[in-house]
Amino acid sequence: MNKEKLMTAVSLVLVAVIILNFYFPKAESFEQKRLRVLKELSASIDDAVLQGKYHCCIDPPCTMCYLGNWIWKDGTCNCDLMIAQGEFDKVCPQCVKGIENSQCEFTGGKN
Ligand SMILES: [Zn+2]
Repeated sequence: MNKEKLMTAVSLVLVAVIILNFYFPKAESFEQKRLRVLKELSASIDDAVLQGKYHCCIDPPCTMCYLGNWIWKDGTCNCDLMIAQGEFDKVCPQCVKGIENSQCEFTGGKN
């Protein structure tokens, strides 16, 4: 094989590798995926806090309420307001745990 043919062959292989990587990117690992999802979840909750829809007493805020696993709907949290009103039966288990671990920074629904 002469030098020119070898260069052509190498170029073709490189182009093939680039195309394959573009159409079939490496699957992300479980850990990469988990980090990406958690980052997005926490950014979404931060947004809800800024929009005044997320009244959570723990920091970082609970995820349960955002995920719809408690009584509040549409990514809202009213746990802090319920604590302020003494209605502890309406506070999500994650926030209750926060209260028990003294992680609950009671704000009286101001955030
Ligand atoms: Zn909550």
